[in-house]
Amino acid sequence: MSKRLVIAGGGHAHMLTLAHLEDFVAKGFEVTVIGPDSHHYYSGMGPGMLGGTYRPEEIRFATQQLVENKGGLFIQAKVTGIQPLERAVRLSSGEEVPYDVLSCNLGSQVPADLIKGPLEDIFLVKPIERLFKARQRILELGAKQRIRIAVVGGGPSAVEIAGNIWRLGQEPGMQEPAITVFAGRSLMPHHSPGVRQRAVASLAARSIKVISNTRVQQIHQRQLFDSEGITHKFDIIFVAVGVQPNRLIGESGIPTGPQGGMLVNRYLQSIKHTRIFGGGDCIDFQDRPLDKVGVYAVRQNPILRHNLMAALTGERMQAFAPGGKYLLIFNLGDGTGILSKWSMVLGGRLAFFIKDWIDRRFMRTFQAFE
Ligand SMILES: Cc1cc2nc3c(=O)[nH]c(=O)nc-3n(C[C@H](O)[C@H](O)[C@H](O)COP(=O)(O)OP(=O)(O)OC[C@H]3O[C@@H](n4cnc5c(N)ncnc54)[C@H](O)[C@@H]3O)c2cc1C
Repeated sequence: MSKRLVIAGGGHAHMLTLAHLEDFVAKGFEVTVIGPDSHHYYSGMGPGMLGGTYRPEEIRFATQQLVENKGGLFIQAKVTGIQPLERAVRLSSGEEVPYDVLSCNLGSQVPADLIKGPLEDIFLVKPIERLFKARQRILELGAKQRIRIAVVGGGPSAVEIAGNIWRLGQEPGMQEPAITVFAGRSLMPHHSPGVRQRAVASLAARSIKVISNTRVQQIHQRQLFDSEGITHKFDIIFVAVGVQPNRLIGESGIPTGPQGGMLVNRYLQSIKHTRIFGGGDCIDFQDRPLDKVGVYAVRQNPILRHNLMAALTGERMQAFAPGGKYLLIFNLGDGTGILSKWSMVLGGRLAFFIKDWIDRRFMRTFQAFE
């Protein structure tokens, strides 16, 4: 019987493997890709889709189409559990899919512990595709009246989301919304003063209110409660409080690291179950902690592609080297950005121009395989 490769989640770390899936099929391996959606959305352009710079089709990869064109099987479902001893993954459909080699790129989730009640008019910043629903809802409500929008979180995604809601508010027929960012201790506390000052100045110049030194305790539909006991009323609430690795790996009894992701060695292989590999936000790299940024997922691509093949054929595996400092560029929603690398910080239109160019090129490269 031919060996079975199962790819759980068609995220950023699997792009190269998916683009060259025919190599696996040509060697006689059975390839199955499992994902909840026929498309995978590129997070780096998600806030831009919310603001209207990009259309959904410009920021997504047609995973199902790609897999089927390359001779693999795509199953539209969620993985709900992994059974490493039985070598099978369980799906939301109730089905079980056996594997000889499994690769997980199941991403991360925004913790929803603060939210009480239904998610109506509450938008977590992940999954990225839901930001399009948020856009439509803001357009619908904002055409009738001046709405109030809260963004809970003080990191880069909160800044990008707030800035891009502002952009949405400039659309014809819209009444400009009142935007408040609940930044926790402060805005962008883990970034350099140069980045922080530019972010603060950019939001202030557009009358986006930032509340610092207050924690949000609970989020309900249309209202939130802060640590001072104050109730704030909003029409729409975004939650951008950071991410945690997909919990199903730990829940499946696979060893996890300090951040809760699958603990992997330098071959991106589970430290206990050597037939399981992983990349992106859902792993904890044993050698050193990696930030939850797409940059690492992208850098892991060639290693995963090689090591999955090596695990199936018995060839030698390659080690992943995370590399040095990476370039960060934030999209502020007004045609400007903030770029930082090492101690260099650059703000303004050029920063966004560079981000837009890099992101579009990334999309073109992988969409070409579809
Ligand atoms: C608003 C925002 C903006 C960001 N901007 C940037 C940026 O500009 N640059 C940068 O480097 N990083 C950025 N990040 C961080 C970046 O999103 C992550 O580091 C990156 O998405 C990680 O890629 P991933 O493939 O591991 O996870 P994801 O992008 O989350 O992909 C996971 C995939 O797995 C699938 N999946 C999830 N659960 C299951 C399941 N149970 N079964 C099967 N499939 C499943 C999903 O559908 C998805 O296709 C941003 C994050 C956010 C929230």
